[in-house]
Amino acid sequence: MPIFNDEEGMGALTAQVASGFDYAGGHSRPTGYHYHVESSNVTENTVLSHDDDALNSILEDGFLLYGRKCNSTGAYPTDLDASGGHKSTTQHSDGCSFYHYHIINEYYTGTYIVLFGVDLQGVPNGIL
Ligand SMILES: [Zn+2]
Ligand SMILES: [Zn+2]
Repeated sequence: MPIFNDEEGMGALTAQVASGFDYAGGHSRPTGYHYHVESSNVTENTVLSHDDDALNSILEDGFLLYGRKCNSTGAYPTDLDASGGHKSTTQHSDGCSFYHYHIINEYYTGTYIVLFGVDLQGVPNGIL
């Protein structure tokens, strides 16, 4: 499923739009279903990331997007760059450090945490 950023249509995501999201943090639009925000911590949610170090997706520039916590420390990373990324080991890196993104541990609007609301570090390559 595609991840959209902190914008909906031509404007920034609002609490009103966000209130229409399902527990997965997404909604259906004429262009198709897509995610915006971190999924909710509800019993229906058995696979999606919520306040953890799970792998969420691969962004358009090919870098991985993990949950709010980093597997290298088990805590919220404190060394993220402007894009929410940093270099460290992860549960998938076999001990090697590599660049990856995290969901930034900040509320965007109301109680919503956007999956990715900043600029990519790499070059989008049309992975969609
Ligand atoms: Zn949307
Ligand atoms: Zn990390």
